[in-house]
Amino acid sequence: MPGEFDFIEAYLSERQTLRQDVQLALGDDCAIVCPPQNARIALSTDTLVGGSHFLLSAPPEWVAHKALASNLSDLAAMGARPAWMSLALTLPELDESWLRPFFDAFFALADDYGIQLIGGDTTKGPLSISLTVQGFVPQDTALLRSGAQVGDRIYVTGKLGDRKAGLDVILDPSLRSKPFASELEKRHFLSTPRVDFAQSLLGIASAAIDISDGLLADLQHILSRSQVGARIDVSQLPYSNEMAAFVGNQVTARQYALTSGEEYELCFTVPVQYASYVERELAGETELHCIGQIAPQGELVLHDAGHAVDWALSGYDHFKASK
Ligand code: ADP
Ligand code: MG
Repeated sequence: MPGEFDFIEAYLSERQTLRQDVQLALGDDCAIVCPPQNARIALSTDTLVGGSHFLLSAPPEWVAHKALASNLSDLAAMGARPAWMSLALTLPELDESWLRPFFDAFFALADDYGIQLIGGDTTKGPLSISLTVQGFVPQDTALLRSGAQVGDRIYVTGKLGDRKAGLDVILDPSLRSKPFASELEKRHFLSTPRVDFAQSLLGIASAAIDISDGLLADLQHILSRSQVGARIDVSQLPYSNEMAAFVGNQVTARQYALTSGEEYELCFTVPVQYASYVERELAGETELHCIGQIAPQGELVLHDAGHAVDWALSGYDHFKASK
């Protein structure tokens, strides 16, 4: 892209905390990094396309946060410690008023998590932000989707549903008059990836995933990879008072908690013998809720404190509840 070199000078150079394990970052044909001995590298890519994953009118600082947070959340879901990233950026133009706030927010969040931008590519075209993140996981204890066993407890971090309510506001501005609409719109972009908390699950959780498509959809990935089923108590689903006020009733709030995507909270399973440890030691700083148990393969039940629930959730009509 013409001006790429100036762009790198202006926006990327000397902006961030340098890591000891980066031998060579921006400026050459490749970056050179030095992974710690015995560590394994977890690696993931996520792309946000302007006009598709966010409106082009969205504040650039929120877009930057969402792009990086979604990638950090993938590292968290594996129990990986963030280390390095590269950024493939496609821009329609070099617009100072967009790029300045974008990179201010981007590097502020990167510094919070100790991840360094070590390279990338810049091209001209429709706005697209593609990040590849890398982090370290211990040799044998990465958090996988495949380890859940019958009887394990199912937990989620934080509260669920705000992002879907925020998306409602983004897609339908007439909803701005509803309670907490602008707060929920902001929360849609500004989630907190559970990177530090995930470290404390290493050796404890039997399976984990980050909630990017919605709790029900993502839990199903754990179920199929682990060849198990689940019983979910919808009365235990955590959601915010603001989202509940926005949607106006409890059933809708619970359904939002089950299906809201881009939450970047964690859903994880814990063998019963570790459940009291999790609730005693880990539930202090990070909000945790036990929402159900792992069941035999083929069983997938939503219940309300033992009472049948029969919701026709779009895409989940097969969730006919039994007791
Ligand atoms: P090449 O032509 O060898 O691909 P480039 O001119 O594309 O090199 O990039 C020059 C340097 O700037 C490289 O080190 C590259 O990693 C870095 N770079 C380019 N664009 C970005 C970006 N969007 N984010 C981070 N680093 C970038
Ligand atoms: Mg290039």
